[in-house]
Amino acid sequence: MPGGVQTEVRNYQMLINGEWVASKSNKMFPVYDPSTEEVIAQVPDASAADVSRAVAAAKAAFEDGPWGQSTHQERGRVLFRLADKIRQNLPMLAELECRNSGKPIVEAEYDITDAATCFEYYGGLATKITGQVNPVPDNALSLSLKEPVGVCGQIIPWNYPLVMAAWKLAPALAAGCTCILKPAEQTPLTMLEVAKWFDEIGLPKGVVNVITGFGETCGAPLVAHPDVNKIAFTGSAAVGKIIVKAAADTVKRVTLELGGKSPNIFFADADFEAAIDGALFGVFINQGEVCSAGSRVLVQKSIYKKFVEAMAAKAKTIKVGAPLDRDTKMGALVSKDQYDRVRSYQELGKKEAKLASGGGRVEKFAKGYYVEPTIFYDVDNSARIAREEIFGPVATVIPFEDEKDALKIANDSPYGLAAAVWTRDIFKAMRTVKALRCGIVWVNHMQPTYVEAPWGGYKQSGFGRELGPHGIEEYLETKQVHINLNEAPIGWY
Ligand code: NAP
Ligand code: MG
Repeated sequence: MPGGVQTEVRNYQMLINGEWVASKSNKMFPVYDPSTEEVIAQVPDASAADVSRAVAAAKAAFEDGPWGQSTHQERGRVLFRLADKIRQNLPMLAELECRNSGKPIVEAEYDITDAATCFEYYGGLATKITGQVNPVPDNALSLSLKEPVGVCGQIIPWNYPLVMAAWKLAPALAAGCTCILKPAEQTPLTMLEVAKWFDEIGLPKGVVNVITGFGETCGAPLVAHPDVNKIAFTGSAAVGKIIVKAAADTVKRVTLELGGKSPNIFFADADFEAAIDGALFGVFINQGEVCSAGSRVLVQKSIYKKFVEAMAAKAKTIKVGAPLDRDTKMGALVSKDQYDRVRSYQELGKKEAKLASGGGRVEKFAKGYYVEPTIFYDVDNSARIAREEIFGPVATVIPFEDEKDALKIANDSPYGLAAAVWTRDIFKAMRTVKALRCGIVWVNHMQPTYVEAPWGGYKQSGFGRELGPHGIEEYLETKQVHINLNEAPIGWY
């Protein structure tokens, strides 16, 4: 093991009803390190038969198991213990996340800490789920009770693997639901490691089942299954649309966290140095594989030329390197598919706009899915590189005249996940915040995300909210109870 890095290919099983099992077909599929293109693990290839087993386990755990009878305090403590285990194992989990996803190790460490924080937050919130007394005009007590939605199917993407799992599992468990979680095919490993502790932290069998597989053969049967009460999905808008349609047959509750093409708006009065930093951080963090990436950089014309030059000059200094190097600022893209996709947009961009920096693969690496941080300018908002989510380190810089023009361009997108605005003028900032049609707005920053604050999009970026108190509401049903206090017949007949 040179440098303590795992070199053997690990074979994993998946967790169904508290047992580590192979898929019914016994088929496995490979998991890669995208920085070396080497296989680092094999995981079970789950299909409809495995989904049925997992759903049956989650249903039994919800209806008949101890979880259904557990108190809010007990559920909260399970989540606290899970958070502790994750924190204690941070180096192992961060290294595994880094190797499996290609993201820089320093970012992976933040992610693992964030996942633990998410379990802590919802561990605390478990005991703050309260109902309501309704002021009905009668001699009666009218109550609204909050109850768990039931069996939840949770389907997540590869860009923040354990963080996305935590955003889904933590509120569901705090609410008292049971879960079937399907990680992305590319990045199942950290979740499978964390699942090894479920028994030890006191999570009863079947409460969380982790199944590994592909979208079409494992995700789709989960969405279609009649015993699944809710689907929580994070991923692309294209798959989100398939899921809404498929969920209609069984009228499942659905929440969708989809993609974006978020505007990062720079007015001429913004602090220039902070603005350049914010433009780069907004779009190149996590190799640009961020749903809220500030991939449309809108810049006021009076500073436009200077801005593009400064942004390009600084982008050229970003260290693209091996994900495990502590000074790496951009690692490898997650997969060959994603690499090909980003490369094709880099080529398309050269036809649709002007190139300020990057535009290709990082040639110094013989292997690995490394691409250059890329900046296109003089981009028209109608160009494909300005409308379609690239999900990689590709910025499109678009000039604007004034506030009205900026807002028109910013809102002219099928997406509405996030936006940021940079200005020293509080009135302009607030007018912009109010006019933007999206679920998250940053002022003089872009990307900080906190478990205490809601996350989700407008328009084709999805519906429903994760994180904060909103996040748990999505896992709760409301039951109205009317208690008649009149000791007499109704007296109607
Ligand atoms: P994706 O292709 O939509 O896949 C997401 C998940 O859905 C994966 O687990 C995938 O399985 C599964 N899936 C695919 N087809 C399915 C089907 N027909 N039925 C059920 N499940 C299916 O997205 P991705 O490429 O992994 O992730 C990138 C996308 O996620 C981007 O669009 C990004 O914006 C979005 N995202 C959004 C947020 C947010 O909070 N709004 C956060 C992170 C990422 P496989 O494992 O086989 O791929
Ligand atoms: Mg896929």
